Amino acid sequence: MEKFKQKLLQFMYGRYGNDQLGTALLIAYIVLLVLQIVSGWPLFSVLMTADVIWMFYRCFSRNIAARRRENDAFLRIRKKFLDFFKLLRDRIRDCRTHVYHKCPHCRAVLRLPRRRGEHSVRCPRCSKTFNMCVFFGRK
Ligand SMILES: [Zn+2]
Repeated sequence: MEKFKQKLLQFMYGRYGNDQLGTALLIAYIVLLVLQIVSGWPLFSVLMTADVIWMFYRCFSRNIAARRRENDAFLRIRKKFLDFFKLLRDRIRDCRTHVYHKCPHCRAVLRLPRRRGEHSVRCPRCSKTFNMCVFFGRK
């Protein structure tokens, strides 16, 4: 067992290994496997094969800089995706008390108290002012 471990370490030396994208590919594989079992659709096995080839290619790759760039791109996309759902969750949670409005100058999303009428808002990020109108809510 110790000898096998030594051989594996020697084989993996200078190779990329696993990262967040590799884990996501593994999760995608499991999801595709479940879909394949449930539906029996042959397209899923093609996707599963491609997924496994990509996963092992990345894991055993010696081009570490390229694999890091791929992982960074994946993390950026994942962050945008998660931020979108976090904002959606907050909007639903606060819909009675607050409105969310995008600053027209810097695109920052502002959380403002829900008060009916027209308001002048000063963005805390870019310090510019803009007018907005809230149609529903307390006076
Ligand atoms: Zn702004």
